[in-house]
Amino acid sequence: MFFVYHFFQSLVGLFNEIKILLKSKKLTPNDIKVLNRFFPYYKNLQPKHQEEFKERLVRFISTKEFIPRGGLESITREMELLISATAIMVVFGFRNVELKHFSRILVYPDNYYSTINRTYHQGEVNPKLGIIVLSWKNFVEGFRDPKNGVNLGVHEMAHALKLENQIHYNEESNFFNKIAWQKFNDLAKDQIQQIKEDKDSFFRKSASNNPHEFFAVALEAFFERPEAFKSEHAALYKSLVFLLKQDPTVLKG
Ligand SMILES: [Zn+2]
Repeated sequence: MFFVYHFFQSLVGLFNEIKILLKSKKLTPNDIKVLNRFFPYYKNLQPKHQEEFKERLVRFISTKEFIPRGGLESITREMELLISATAIMVVFGFRNVELKHFSRILVYPDNYYSTINRTYHQGEVNPKLGIIVLSWKNFVEGFRDPKNGVNLGVHEMAHALKLENQIHYNEESNFFNKIAWQKFNDLAKDQIQQIKEDKDSFFRKSASNNPHEFFAVALEAFFERPEAFKSEHAALYKSLVFLLKQDPTVLKG
């Protein structure tokens, strides 16, 4: 029985892989142009890492369903590319992580009204529904200044990454190194306290709301202002390098 079950499971897995392969569209020269123009992280990767990035990007796009909402007419190729590239950047240190639990990405044109907590949102991640929600206007805003440490896309992907690590019913969980995660959380606790007391903190105020927010805001700074982050909070920065298995300061640009 056990054997039959496993045989069936691997058959399902094989069919899924074939489905993904058939759906995968190779990146066009124009796609690469978009990446080079708007996504400095990609541009600054070593050629062999660019290859890996592209491969994972294609797979990400073909495994997610992108859904326009709130009057947005359609999902453009640029939206697919830049949203997915942001996700791949955040998970790049984890070879096999593709945020499997989050199969749908909803895109609104602008801030949207959330009926759950009756406020306007720029984005959110809902683990129950397996969705990532972004407003395109704010997503683009995050790219306009790639060095100010504010990036909605990175913020929401960071929430998704942390949740994915905690989800125990798929094969993609518990990939955070326990020591690195502990180290980061110990340092984060002190930092949250400091932000509450200090008006001129390196991290913006909302980072002190709770540990989840701190993680998401810290990742925005990690990818957009790595040099400044490293010199202001060396130990915290180092703990993120250890945790995320990548170091944005080694990329030029
Ligand atoms: Zn948040």
